[in-house]
Amino acid sequence: MAQHETDQQEINDGFVVDTENTEEREQAYRERGTARPITVVGNPVLHKECKDVTEFDDKLAALIDDMFASQRAAEGVGLAANQIGVDLKVFVYDCPDDEGVRHVGVVCNPVLEELSQEERNLDEANEGCLSVPTAYAELARPDYAVVRGQDAEGNPVKVRGTGYFARCLQHETDHLYGRLYIDRLSKRDRKDALKQMAEGTPRYETVPND
Ligand code: ZN
Repeated sequence: MAQHETDQQEINDGFVVDTENTEEREQAYRERGTARPITVVGNPVLHKECKDVTEFDDKLAALIDDMFASQRAAEGVGLAANQIGVDLKVFVYDCPDDEGVRHVGVVCNPVLEELSQEERNLDEANEGCLSVPTAYAELARPDYAVVRGQDAEGNPVKVRGTGYFARCLQHETDHLYGRLYIDRLSKRDRKDALKQMAEGTPRYETVPND
């Protein structure tokens, strides 16, 4: 037991604890917020780098509430601000890691840390995106990720993820730099994903493209 606690302290050293009171925290955010429709591939806001967050104010807090509400309504495990049409570097997440532990949190101005050769193990798994509704494709990504950024108050944070959560951290950071997961696919797989999207019907409200 004592050994375990020591390990935990070392594991959490410098990293945000995003695994406690997850249900209560996620519920509080989403109940204050309003779900907004999701932007889809082709909308310009998804295809350019978002602006840095510089004001850590009530307006940002309200945006984060809306993002949690939208994420829940669309049944997502992560959501970037430009997916509800807002040009700001913020993402939220509600995602299990490779041990099934739920992580809930928010990162502003995220930057992915470079992995060392030993840390970099590619994991090939199915990936989807709320902004490419009803489509899925296999994509290899490192099975471990560390993101540095700021919380809603502007304090520096460091988030670490494994498995599906590592994939989520990379996917959401990509969004804020104007990159969708389908941009990382081969031409053929990308085309197939867009075909799946064209043939499917999203289960949530989307923003029509002009
Ligand atoms: Zn996405």
